[in-house]
Amino acid sequence: MISVAIDGPSSAGKSTVAKGVAKQLGFVYVDTGAMYRCVTLYALEHNVDCQNDEEVCKLLPFIDIELCIGGKVLLNGKDVTHDIRTQPVVDNVSYIAANKGVRLFLVDIQRDMAKDVSIVMDGRDIGTYVLPNANVKIFQVADVKERAKRRYLENIEKGIECTLEAVEKDLERRDYIDSHREFAPLCKASDAIEVDTSYLTIEESIDTIVKIIKEKVGI
Ligand code: C5P
Repeated sequence: MISVAIDGPSSAGKSTVAKGVAKQLGFVYVDTGAMYRCVTLYALEHNVDCQNDEEVCKLLPFIDIELCIGGKVLLNGKDVTHDIRTQPVVDNVSYIAANKGVRLFLVDIQRDMAKDVSIVMDGRDIGTYVLPNANVKIFQVADVKERAKRRYLENIEKGIECTLEAVEKDLERRDYIDSHREFAPLCKASDAIEVDTSYLTIEESIDTIVKIIKEKVGI
């Protein structure tokens, strides 16, 4: 069983790249961000303040998340693949992710997923906390201006109104909360390999990471 951890700041292209890497290697891809987004959506739907840690934790026993092969995300059996990408979820997910009870709940599920299959898992704390013994750890970064540009173009394509400045500000806000939270913050594991994808295409980023994995684990 081989496990690959891909961590890094928001909108560095981690999920697209991690998905591509998993496909090339025939590994299962696990999008841990989708899980934090599901808890956020559930809290919003139940009118619970996402910054109220105690109230949010009371919801956890009622939450069942399923990440399907192919990318579909089910929350208590309902397809929420698109709903977890909406603005209210984006605005609140960093608060939910700073909640220790939520993290412990999701990390258990994530570790379980990595038990019996070879996986590529992407997130913020995979190499440092979730899978400290991962065979390969990648820390994927990209210049904030470049990340903002990508996210802005994605939004425009989806018909989401925004400005480049607002997108950049929001990325900086989320990165700040993610890297300054007390429990399992976003940071590079000491044994992670940093890959800067600012000026790489998706294919080049995938190839770079696949090469690193093949060299490291000899497959
Ligand atoms: O990766 P994505 O942008 O979908 O993640 C959404 C949010 O979930 C991040 O902004 C971060 O706050 C949180 N997250 C986290 N730890 C992970 C994955 C995501 O804190 N392993």
